[in-house]
Amino acid sequence: VIRRLDYLGPMSSPDGWRPEPRLPEVAFSGRSNVGKSSLINKLVRRKGWARVSNTPGRTREIHFFDVNGQFALVDLPGYGYARISKERKAEWRPLIEGFLRHSPRLQGVVQLLDVRHDPSGDDLQMLDFLSEIEVPTIIVATKVDKMKRAEASARVLATAAALGMEESQIIPFSAVTGEGRDELASAIADLVAQ
Ligand code: GDP
Repeated sequence: VIRRLDYLGPMSSPDGWRPEPRLPEVAFSGRSNVGKSSLINKLVRRKGWARVSNTPGRTREIHFFDVNGQFALVDLPGYGYARISKERKAEWRPLIEGFLRHSPRLQGVVQLLDVRHDPSGDDLQMLDFLSEIEVPTIIVATKVDKMKRAEASARVLATAAALGMEESQIIPFSAVTGEGRDELASAIADLVAQ
C-alpha cells in the first residue's frame, strides 16, 4: 500500500546530481510507449504521479521517487524510440547504463516488454546488460488486455522461450484491468526486502 510518494528529483547526466542512495532502489526500464507510465500509475495508484517524467524535455532524465520511505522508485528514460537519432542514443545509453552500473543500492530492475511484440534489439541489449551486471530483473509483459487471453498466454510463452526463461518468470500485466498489479507489487516487495 502506498501511503507516501515524494518526488526526489532528476538525474540528467552520467556524472550529474542524483539523490543520496539512502533507500534500496528499484528501476523501471522499457522502450518508449511500452506502457511504463501507465504501469507505474497503476502500481502506486496515483493518477498523474508521472507528470514530471512525461513533461516535454524531461523524458530523457532519470526520475527518483521515495515510496513510503521504504524504497526509491527509479523511472528510467524510455529507450529505442523508432525515430530517435544516433546522437540521442549516444546520450541515453551512458546515462542509463552508468546509473545501473554505479548505484550501490540498486536492488533490481523491472523490465517491461509489450506482449504484442518480440523483444527489440534495444530490449535484448538491455537484458544482456542487466545480466552482465547481475542485477535481479523482473520481466513484465504489458498491455495483455489488448489480446485474447489465450493469445496473450501464447505470446508470454514465446517471449519466455526467446529469452531462455520459464513462463513463470514473466508477469502478465494490464494497466487497464489491473491484472498483474498485485503480483508485481509483491515481487518488488521481495526485491526490496533482500
Ligand atoms: P510509456 O511511454 O512507456 O510511459 O507508455 P504510456 O504508459 O504512456 O503508454 C503508451 C500508450 O499505451 C498509451 O496510449 C497508453 O494508454 C497505452 N497503454 C499503456 N498501458 C496499457 C495497457 O495495459 N492496456 C492498454 N490497452 N493500453 C495501454
